[in-house]
Amino acid sequence: MRTVTLKCDRCGATAEDDKNFLKRVAVGVNWGGYGFQAADRKLEAEWCRECLIKTGLCSPQNEADEKIAPPAPPTLEDLIRDIVREEIEQRGVELETTC
Ligand SMILES: [Zn+2]
Repeated sequence: MRTVTLKCDRCGATAEDDKNFLKRVAVGVNWGGYGFQAADRKLEAEWCRECLIKTGLCSPQNEADEKIAPPAPPTLEDLIRDIVREEIEQRGVELETTC
């Protein structure tokens, strides 16, 4: 029986006989109306799922994924809160809350 060893082009992790271990990754260009096409065959690679999660190309699916995923970019609300907080700090304005 033949064993096929698959190797991630990015991190070098290997797996045997697991056809789902690697996913094709490529830089694509949308030339207009036909969807994305690989910009250059030389820019294609096969990466493992962990690399896809680590680079943010794939959304985390479980708790283990969350630990290796890059931090989520701030939401618009987060950015507005930061701006307001900075303004308040610069002007020395005290926050007053009304109910
Ligand atoms: Zn990998």
